Amino acid sequence: MSKEILGIHHITAICGEPQTNVDFYAGLLGLRLVKRTVNFDDPKTYHLYYGNGVGTPGTILTFFPWPGVGPGRLGTGQTTATSFAISPGAIPFWTERLSKAGLEFEAPVSRFGEDLLSFSDPDGMQIELITSAAVNPSKAYAEGPIPLEYAIHGFHSATLSEEGFQQTSSLLTETLGFKLLKQEGNRFRFSVGAGEPGTTVDVLVAPDEPSGRVAGGSVHHIAWRTADDAQQLEWLKELTKLGYNSSPVMDRKYFHSIYFREPGGILFEIATDPPGFAIDEPLDQLGSKLVLPPWLEKVRSQLEAVLPPIQLPTAAPTPVTP
Ligand code: ZN
Repeated sequence: MSKEILGIHHITAICGEPQTNVDFYAGLLGLRLVKRTVNFDDPKTYHLYYGNGVGTPGTILTFFPWPGVGPGRLGTGQTTATSFAISPGAIPFWTERLSKAGLEFEAPVSRFGEDLLSFSDPDGMQIELITSAAVNPSKAYAEGPIPLEYAIHGFHSATLSEEGFQQTSSLLTETLGFKLLKQEGNRFRFSVGAGEPGTTVDVLVAPDEPSGRVAGGSVHHIAWRTADDAQQLEWLKELTKLGYNSSPVMDRKYFHSIYFREPGGILFEIATDPPGFAIDEPLDQLGSKLVLPPWLEKVRSQLEAVLPPIQLPTAAPTPVTP
């Protein structure tokens, strides 16, 4: 069997006001807005994609902004933390930057020997910045507002909160190709590689926690990378054989997707690496204007009339503090 999961492809979450979301992720965190489009299943709402300069799989965080949405509840059956990788030594830069922005956060802690800074985005979504000696500079937005040595270098990992352990663990290790690398208390770290950023996911076993509810500030699904359409079909075949009620292949334009629920209730997706975000606008213009799939171009003016305007933050370079 030649099919392989290569790590995290993207994470998709729900937020409230789109401008607040853009200011936080493209402004404060310094990611690039790589696509400004609509939710293909609900075209009167945006779908915003952030990533490194080109939206490399493994760097992509996406949002469905629903202005006025109520808060969700973090709990089991959910991806409860989205973790980005930063270089060792970047923690002081971020504590200063987040403090200056008036964000509240806990003092950095250590997890599996790496330093970690944890905070919430404006909708209450849990974000972590985790240091790693194995950050990959090609995963950072080199031309972004944050100096490269401090910039976010794609995903580090994510935390899956689960009521139980065994069935999710079996899916990860026996089907998707993860290995259990280490454990700290009720946190179990799995990786499809050697634990380097982007290949890693933590399962947090929390049987006493309430179950989560997806709304504002919560992750809708987590997508895993597969190399191409042929491998995706292999995954679809195997998941179906195992009794998972997977969706058919969906054309998401920038990648192709299948969706299924893991045994603990979290929505998983397997997404292809190609074709990527340059398929419908030049790389130097990614995210600069509303891009629609061909079948929605004929209603562009109606959509533009209901979508709230959004502006990219002015990219003032951040002064480097010695
Ligand atoms: Zn997705």
